[in-house]
Amino acid sequence: MTYYRFQEYAKHVRIGKIICLARTYKEHAREMNTIVTEDPLLFLKPASSVIFNHGTIVIPRMSQCLHHEVELGVIIGKNGKHIGEEKALQHVLGYLVALDITARDIQSIAKKNGWPWGIAKGFDTFAPLSDAVLKEKVPNPQNLDLVLKINGAIKQKANTNQMIYSMERIISFISEIMTLERGDLILTGTPEGVGEIKEGDVLEADLGSLCSLTVNVKRER
Ligand code: MG
Repeated sequence: MTYYRFQEYAKHVRIGKIICLARTYKEHAREMNTIVTEDPLLFLKPASSVIFNHGTIVIPRMSQCLHHEVELGVIIGKNGKHIGEEKALQHVLGYLVALDITARDIQSIAKKNGWPWGIAKGFDTFAPLSDAVLKEKVPNPQNLDLVLKINGAIKQKANTNQMIYSMERIISFISEIMTLERGDLILTGTPEGVGEIKEGDVLEADLGSLCSLTVNVKRER
């Protein structure tokens, strides 16, 4: 079992399912030569893909090309199904910054063939998470600076106000499909600027001064 690491929260919250959104920023959809959709696009990552601050992303033997995607993560604190938008934020426990690591070569083949993305997104170490902050510290989750640096150089920089769906809509929509349970994590999609990571790289992600994440990269032997 894996538990979140909270900056200031003593109680253990187990990491449940990880629900990821795709194409939630227009400029990222454009760089991937694709379009945004009216309803959010979802896929799942296993909890076994989680690593934490100062962990190591492992490039698996099956892939030759991993990409970074920096994202705002939303931790669910209260179970719910068919959650109305007006009550959606009451179900949030906290936030963190995450990387949705993607085997882009495997994903490209899947996209071409109309196959699911589970392999490209689900390897061990493909979900690095920062320590989390309680929602009380975050007056507006859709006004947060999101930055990713590789070896000190900025690669992705955006504000969550550029997301095309509201947080309320995202939570409400997901809960129409699957019960959201305490400990579930929503990765809300990446802005533009995704690119390759290599063995030896040091990745630093942050949500302004709220939370930060540093991980390195090695290849599986
Ligand atoms: Mg993503």
